[in-house]
Amino acid sequence: MGNSPLVNNIKKPKAVVFDTDNTLYPYEAAHNAAMEAVRSKGISSLNVTQQEFDEAFKKARSDVKKKLQDTASSHSRLLYFQRTIEYLGLGTKILLTLDLEQAYWRAFLINARLFPGVKDFIYQLKSDKVITANVTDLTAQIQFRKMVYLGMDEHFDYVVTSEEAGKDKPHSAPFDIILSKIGVAPSDIWMIGDNPINDIEGALAAGMVPFQKIHDGVKVSQIIKDGNGIAFEDFYKLLDVYKSLCSNKS
Ligand SMILES: [Mg+2]
Repeated sequence: MGNSPLVNNIKKPKAVVFDTDNTLYPYEAAHNAAMEAVRSKGISSLNVTQQEFDEAFKKARSDVKKKLQDTASSHSRLLYFQRTIEYLGLGTKILLTLDLEQAYWRAFLINARLFPGVKDFIYQLKSDKVITANVTDLTAQIQFRKMVYLGMDEHFDYVVTSEEAGKDKPHSAPFDIILSKIGVAPSDIWMIGDNPINDIEGALAAGMVPFQKIHDGVKVSQIIKDGNGIAFEDFYKLLDVYKSLCSNKS
């Protein structure tokens, strides 16, 4: 857990806001399985090599991201696959694009598993009447489907997507919207996320208390190192910290 100055001053939250991807579940495993499914469908349907497909996808993804930066649709797999096929010189292929997108999310969802302890932590918050919320970058349709698939759709009092906000985190727009939905002072809110910029910087700028979920591939935020937030690896440990605050302060 570390011994940042904040740990000693931290109080029981009135609300806890969660990021989704790579915070509630490990993203890489799901994404890699999804890309594998898309690649095998893509190369057989388009009659191209894996290398050609991968290069076109890489270019397509960076192209879409550059054009639509910091918006929900900059993450659109539908747009990535549309552009991939176009880069392969085949024009726009609507049905195949839809097919690849469906293959991607099907494999992704099958391979997305909640981190241990996520539900236990949220159940504890709910039983203590702490407001729970979710602020997530991407379009509402797929983020809502993820929640249903992960069995989390009944667990958040409020959700904000970057489609709804018009901007991805760390822009203030999604944070402003969730604050107005929750109606609690930001200093009474914990924001839990993996991304040092989007979640941790964004939360601190919004006046919330940042908590960073650390696991393989996640770089510890400087904000955490400076003692202005808390890092944790295991939701059960976070639950212990939360419970100790409840018994100390109430
Ligand atoms: Mg994330």
